[in-house]
Amino acid sequence: MKFTLLDQCSAVRHLVSEKKSEVDCGFSLALHTGEPREKIVKNRTILTDHFGTDSLFVGIRQVHGDTVHAVTETKERGWATLLDAVEADALITDLPQMVLTILTADCVPILLYDPIAGAIGAVHAGWKGTQTEILPKTIAKMQEKYGSKPQNILLAIGPAIGQCCYEVGEEVARHFMDYMGAVLAGKVAGKYQLDLKRVNQLQALEIGINVENIEVTPLCTSCAKNRFFSYRAEQGCSGRFLSAIKLV
Ligand SMILES: [Zn+2]
Repeated sequence: MKFTLLDQCSAVRHLVSEKKSEVDCGFSLALHTGEPREKIVKNRTILTDHFGTDSLFVGIRQVHGDTVHAVTETKERGWATLLDAVEADALITDLPQMVLTILTADCVPILLYDPIAGAIGAVHAGWKGTQTEILPKTIAKMQEKYGSKPQNILLAIGPAIGQCCYEVGEEVARHFMDYMGAVLAGKVAGKYQLDLKRVNQLQALEIGINVENIEVTPLCTSCAKNRFFSYRAEQGCSGRFLSAIKLV
């Protein structure tokens, strides 16, 4: 799938991959979940068709932390193997050719583009990353490195587990009580329904991103598990779909 907001911009190319039953591993793009590496690498080459043959991809070892890695070398990393991957949960760059990639299956993938500064970002925000404000930290690093201004940044929040399907306990919900509408009482006593996409949207608004510059897909990975991998709905699936962005 694509975001309308980013699709209108001729200086970036982006994509959120969807399952393909006719491709190995349902078109999973993750190297870390035990699928045969050669199959995943073959799946990854399919993305070159979309992003162009000059593309250099960057994959990361995502650890639910709050490290933002700035890509400063025109060099592929974490793509053919994870051995040379950086440990981080967000990527930023102002280099053309570089494709920033994030893998998810229920966590929130976020793509960023600053057309004025000519910079992009990609964020992996699970509940821990959201709690530690990885998105605001990514934007702060874009400000520091590229002089980005929040009011210029376009932000696209991708398919993730929706409030409809994301039941959490008090120990998780308590971190998000201050976010209006993001936490609802659950169907079972002591449980809550959490809207992580909403929390990230509110964090972005809080630091000055314009409301019209934010696109939030309504797609829930659990409800749409025929299109996207869902860790919860598939009870620990090994597949991951990819969200990626590149300056052209
Ligand atoms: Zn749902």
